[in-house]
Amino acid sequence: MFLADYHSHSICSPDGHVPLSEMARSAVDAGLAELCLTDHCDLLDYHGNPVHTFNWAPIEEQLRLARPQFEGRLILKMGLELGEAWENPKLAAQIVSHPELDFVLGSIHNLSSVEGGVDLGMIHYESEAQCRAVLEKYMDTMEALVELPCFDILAHVVYPLRYMGRDGFVLTLEPYEQRLRKIFSRLISQGRGIEFNTHRGKDIEIWRWVLELYKDCGGTLLTLGSDAHHPPHVGAGFYPAVNLLKELGFHQIATYEKHRPALHEL
Ligand SMILES: [Zn+2]
Ligand SMILES: [Zn+2]
Repeated sequence: MFLADYHSHSICSPDGHVPLSEMARSAVDAGLAELCLTDHCDLLDYHGNPVHTFNWAPIEEQLRLARPQFEGRLILKMGLELGEAWENPKLAAQIVSHPELDFVLGSIHNLSSVEGGVDLGMIHYESEAQCRAVLEKYMDTMEALVELPCFDILAHVVYPLRYMGRDGFVLTLEPYEQRLRKIFSRLISQGRGIEFNTHRGKDIEIWRWVLELYKDCGGTLLTLGSDAHHPPHVGAGFYPAVNLLKELGFHQIATYEKHRPALHEL
């Protein structure tokens, strides 16, 4: 089975821990064929302050060091997890114009700055009504994001549910079906797709309804990502994730080279 992890972080992320070479060693041990490094570039910080610059040099250095070590054993791709692109589409476009870049995840980690800009994981969720209000704003933001051309794959659609669950509120995105249908249809019409983010192996079943909806909208283009920030989490949850994909009728996962998808049978 061909497996590629298209969501991973190294020391180039503020919340990363190890060099890419250590993540890559773990990918080889997990039997993966490819690892795409998608370190963070967020255009808002945790507190909602705008970020005005991004430096590619540390990521270029990680790839330069790791690629020769894994030649013939693991393909290493240059990716980016671009957060809050709608805050500054011009800067986002400039950042992703790097000529060596293979892949961009479009992420929403924060509410938009007009809503205070705070990171969704920094909010303390105290009631279901509060969760619903945040999810409404989250959907507004996702609608704005899909209109921007600066990413290849929409990242972790279920992201806020992680933190609502942490605070004791187990919600789904089912009340937002009509809005998600429009978002997925828009992505599909642009030749783009979504990721199945296993969240280090913790999130599998939470994706069932989302993936069924995506398929019902005609979606086939998918990447698989662990969101690993530590080596043991590279490829975590991929076997149950693939089982779920096959059960739902998905037969392929995508890898990217210079933003062009290639499809691989599961
Ligand atoms: Zn993320
Ligand atoms: Zn991530």
